[in-house]
Amino acid sequence: MNRILITEDNSRISSFLETGLQASGYTTLVIETAKEAIELAHGDDFDLLILDLGLPDQDGLNVLATVRGQGETLPIIVLTARDGLDDTVQGLEGGADDYITKPFQFEELLARVRCSFAIVLSPAPSKKRDCTAADSRWICSLVRCGWTIAKSSYLPVSFCWWKC
Ligand code: CA
Repeated sequence: MNRILITEDNSRISSFLETGLQASGYTTLVIETAKEAIELAHGDDFDLLILDLGLPDQDGLNVLATVRGQGETLPIIVLTARDGLDDTVQGLEGGADDYITKPFQFEELLARVRCSFAIVLSPAPSKKRDCTAADSRWICSLVRCGWTIAKSSYLPVSFCWWKC
């Protein structure tokens, strides 16, 4: 459970991501196009997709729509320069599990990657509550898995702690 597909057409950023994630124990594959992302997101080859939105062939939002439209539940973290609130909401509502804006700190990205894997690996929740309409899909996932959520001042970024 540590294979990460990186869709990023900026080689400097993808190289930075790949180096850091591999040093943290993850297996990575870098691709540059939406077409490849859509093809590779299916099946069991990867456990997480890191997705840029500004891709050369299609908008990354199309990747989200296509992959989710086909019922794929692979966790997806959007990593993009689009930092408007509307962009973030559009990404999360479009099926992203998390949304990170560039420029980013690798440590934060790594923490969010670990959160994504923790959600997938976590056992049945013992302390769950119902999600409210205000909760994002990502936060709902955490809550269902028994995490405590503390929203930061800059929504929708949240921090999470494992309670068990
Ligand atoms: Ca790009």
